[in-house]
Parts: sequence; structure tokens; C-alpha cells
Amino acid sequence: MSASTLHTVYLVGAGPGDPDLLTVKALRLLQTAEAVVYDRLVSDEVLDLIPAGATRIFAGKASRRQGVPQEEINDMLVRLAREGRSVVRLKGGDPFVFGRGSEEAVHLVENGIPFEVVPGVTAAIACAAYSGIPLTHRGLAKSVRVITGHRRDNRALDFDWPSLADGETTLVVYMGLANLGLIARELMEAGAESDRPAAAIYRGSTPDQRVVHGTLETLAERVGDAGLTAPTLVIIGEVASLGETLAWFEPARAGDHQAPG
Ligand code: SAH
Repeated sequence: MSASTLHTVYLVGAGPGDPDLLTVKALRLLQTAEAVVYDRLVSDEVLDLIPAGATRIFAGKASRRQGVPQEEINDMLVRLAREGRSVVRLKGGDPFVFGRGSEEAVHLVENGIPFEVVPGVTAAIACAAYSGIPLTHRGLAKSVRVITGHRRDNRALDFDWPSLADGETTLVVYMGLANLGLIARELMEAGAESDRPAAAIYRGSTPDQRVVHGTLETLAERVGDAGLTAPTLVIIGEVASLGETLAWFEPARAGDHQAPG
């Protein structure tokens, strides 16, 4: 097939769930897509923007070993592009932040398929905004670290913990729920104070958002008591102490299950 009949595959960030947080480019591409391959994290409200005639393909997410294997997704994107369809690969948040978008991009390059990446509002940015916890704040945090709390095949989290325990660094943990207790212990052993503020944000920016506040010592238990599940983002650092003062977002459905503070 000649290059001219190949369509570009768009690796598009869908943001954290609220369709108002899509970029204009993401919205435009979605509205003209012929095939959309999407992840579990993409919200129904965003999926509602896909035209009725477009093919929707659920690609699941490999994290829980369910869903479609990454190799199959890679091959599917190549196949759809070769069929000459305009393909959007829609991913929660940003495609290049723990989204495996880069693995798909490498596969597209290897197969000679043109692609573009459309950035999305990643969970760290969205959850910070919607929980009122700034990632940086003069006097409280002068840098931000973003880590995954879960590794492939449950491999050990072999971080340089002392560098993550720095008191003026905000630590953002994606996929951190299962290992939250372990992460907190490692940080405390590496020198972080046990009363360092921390918060967990469930489904940030959506009507289901819940925020649980605590400290390094208490957060894991509070999150357990509150029954938070994925997707939840954890923010650790002095900035989390601002969350109660700056909480501005009142999720529509919060009334009956607001988490304890
Ligand atoms: N590419 C995505 C991240 C995928 S990894 C992004 O840029 O946001 C999946 C993890 O992201 C979840 O386990 C959770 O930690 C986080 N996450 C994604 N969306 C979220 C949301 N709306 N609220 C809270 N955490 C979210």
C-alpha cells in the first residue's frame, strides 16, 4: 500500500474523564474518526463524542492482565491504518505518561505508519487541580517527582528512596494503591517524617471524585477504610496540606459517599 493511502494514527490523550478537559484537537479528531481504539480509563462522557458511524474498539488495559495484550493492540493499529481508516488511539490522561503510548508509537514507526501524539491532561495535573493540592507552592515544594507504584509482574519498587523522601519535593504516585503502605514505609525509613501530609484522589475531575487526606503514616489505612479503588492518584508532600483550604470542586455525586478526611 502506498504511503499516500495510509492514514495517520493519532495517539490522543483523553484527559482524566471530564470531556471539558479534552484539548480542542482531541475533540476535533474524535469527531472525525472512523475507528477509535480506547482504554478502560476513557470515560463514557468522552466516548459519547465519537460519531455513531465510527468503529469503537475496546482495548482494555494490560495492568490487571485482563484486556487485550499490548502486541495485539499494536497490530490492530497497524491493520486499521493500512485499511485506510482514520484511526484515533484514545488513552486516559496523556498518552506518554504511564500510558504505553510510546510503545505503540515505536511499533507504528517500525511498520512505517505515520503518527501524531496529542497530549492530554494527565492525572497528576487534573487531580492536583481538582483536589486543590498544587504540585508546587512557594515555600512548600520546589520540585515534583512522578513515579509508578506498580511495576510489571509485581517486580520490586527499587527506587532511590532517599531522593524521593526529600521534604521539598512533591511525590506523585500513579497506580500506587496496592503498594501504598509499602511506599509510605520506604519513604519513612529513608527519612521522611511520618506526619508528612499525603492525599489520595479517586477519579479526579469526575462527578465520582473522592479525596482522602492523611499523612504518610495514616494514608494507607484511611484509603483502605474509605474503600478507594483504581483509578486513584496519590500525592505526598507538604503541598497536600493546602488541599482542605483550596478544595473548590464539589462533585455532583459526592453527597452520600464523601470520604472521611
Ligand atoms: N496515561 C494516564 C495514566 C495511566 S496509568 C495519565 O496520563 O493520567 C493509570 C493510573 O493513572 C491510575 O492507576 C491512577 O493512578 C492514575 N489516574 C488516571 N486517571 C485518573 C483519575 N481520573 N483520577 C485519579 N487517578 C487517575
